[in-house]
Amino acid sequence: MHEMAIAEGILDIALDYAKANNAHKINEIGLLIGEMSGVEVDSLNFSFNMLTQGTIAEGAELKIKNVPLMGKCSKCGKEFHIEHYDFWCPECENGVLTTLSGREMQVEYLEVD
Ligand SMILES: [Zn+2]
Repeated sequence: MHEMAIAEGILDIALDYAKANNAHKINEIGLLIGEMSGVEVDSLNFSFNMLTQGTIAEGAELKIKNVPLMGKCSKCGKEFHIEHYDFWCPECENGVLTTLSGREMQVEYLEVD
């Protein structure tokens, strides 16, 4: 399951961070999730809650920030919010958009005690 692997990755990062900072509790984890990352927030929360049981991250809250899918035209250089999976430039109509953001899944910050 995709989300389970992601939740494991997040927990690893959080535990490493807690250890490096001598923290005994992880309270909150800020995440950046791109529109196109394909991550399902509900199942990510579910997986995370399951994995963190019995760890210092138990009860930690995932604060998820969605990152819009942004593209830049290879021809005119214009930047757009890509909608409806339309990867053609709406300005010059024959430029191809390359994605700038929206595919990421990363930990933005951690709050520990
Ligand atoms: Zn263009």
